[in-house]
Amino acid sequence: MDAEVMPHHRSAFEGRHVCVAGLGVSGPPVARVLLERGAHVVVVDGRDDGTTRPVAAELTAAGAEVVLGDTPLPHPCDLVVTSPGWRPDSSLLVRAAEAGLEVIGDVELAWRLKPADQVWLAITGTNGKTTTVRMLEAMLRADGRDALAVGNVGTPVVDAVLPDADGRVHDVLAVELSSFQLHWSSTLAPHAAAVLNVAPDHLDWHGGITAYARAKGRIFARGTLRVANTADAWSMRLAEEDGDPHTPLVGLRLDTPRAGELGVVEDLLVDRAFVEDPSSSAEELANLADVRPAAPHNVANALAAAALARSVGVAPASVRAGLAAFVPEPHRIAHVAAVAGVDYVDDSKATNPHAAAASLGAYPSVVWVAGGLLKGADVDELVASAVGRLRGAVLIGADRARLREALAEHAPGVPVVEVEGPAEDAPQGHTVMDAVVAAAADMAEEGDTVLLAPAAASMDMFTNYPERGRLFAEAVKRRC
Ligand code: ADP
Repeated sequence: MDAEVMPHHRSAFEGRHVCVAGLGVSGPPVARVLLERGAHVVVVDGRDDGTTRPVAAELTAAGAEVVLGDTPLPHPCDLVVTSPGWRPDSSLLVRAAEAGLEVIGDVELAWRLKPADQVWLAITGTNGKTTTVRMLEAMLRADGRDALAVGNVGTPVVDAVLPDADGRVHDVLAVELSSFQLHWSSTLAPHAAAVLNVAPDHLDWHGGITAYARAKGRIFARGTLRVANTADAWSMRLAEEDGDPHTPLVGLRLDTPRAGELGVVEDLLVDRAFVEDPSSSAEELANLADVRPAAPHNVANALAAAALARSVGVAPASVRAGLAAFVPEPHRIAHVAAVAGVDYVDDSKATNPHAAAASLGAYPSVVWVAGGLLKGADVDELVASAVGRLRGAVLIGADRARLREALAEHAPGVPVVEVEGPAEDAPQGHTVMDAVVAAAADMAEEGDTVLLAPAAASMDMFTNYPERGRLFAEAVKRRC
């Protein structure tokens, strides 16, 4: 796409006074884009420390005014672009609402800046977003499209709508959207969108499951082809109730698809939606074995990516080629090693019970490594659904007592070991994960899987989930 095809609202920010709230991940690229478009930019962030100061200095040099340590609403101000994680009840956003100012997020800003003919295919859901946008990007590229995945991993969305150094803009974006970004979007209208699943998460931010789900439903709001998971009640409900009834609703299922759906027949992924006559024909897209990592929930992700790809005419062979080219992200059901006939798997990214349930469901006999910060999530259902698969459990982290209670209630025969961390007296070069892996190895029998799928956030013991996964993998490798 040539940059000559100028977005009609390109100069819409010239001379406007814009407040950028938050200097985290989205704030700096948002501020730069607005400065390039001639806006007067004031960036505010309540933190005044070693992380915000260097970025603040850069943005000041680029022409922004930066306020650290306080979050005043600047005056004058025509528009607020907020970091999506800022809660609507934070003081600056409350003041902006009282003043009748428009508040948008980074995604909405990118939507307003993008060239009219750039196509957006959007994905949201509690779990599976990153995996699915990456699969979609691979399918589009296998089909020869100039496509880019944007969102949490990779390029910030505002950078993907502007011409690159060669003056070109990507034709198609595979856009990962969080519930926060959708909350702060008002005119977004992707060509097609999928809600993969909805399970309790971020409830304190949104104020409850309904508000959280409805935020996700905004992805379907305006003329968007709807892709929904027939096995997920919220996904279907949002597509039916919050979507545009005049657009096709393409269902996904893990068994035989009906007309208008994508599904699985024996070992094949099959399309009965984007074919000439869905009532009498179907198109083979790929084999189950093409989906990596092999797990039922990941087949659902692959079907969602395939539906979005097919909505812009990607050929069936490119769906298969895309799955073959897809490189799974680290810490998502990553096989670490087999030691003494036991497989060790790192799914440290399973930071909520819904993700952990999906990963436990992928293995018949598991020693489960779990625990951390549960963020108020309920684990009874998770434990009850996994009982038949559990050889044992090794519990870590601040909220492990909740997991211990749930295991005692729903899985009374399953042995449980608790490991307190960080172990101060761990031998040189060892970490708390060595104790965890040793306890798991003691319980595991040949053919079992030791699965790190914590169902919880990591920050009580680790810097983040990648560090948790890395330390687990290193401890496993020390036993090889
Ligand atoms: P997100 O970007 O939504 O966090 P990821 O692709 O990074 O999603 O996966 C996050 C976690 O959720 C991983 O632990 C993964 O195993 C699990 N997961 C991925 N897809 C699904 C799904 N469709 N349903 C449930 N869990 C899933």
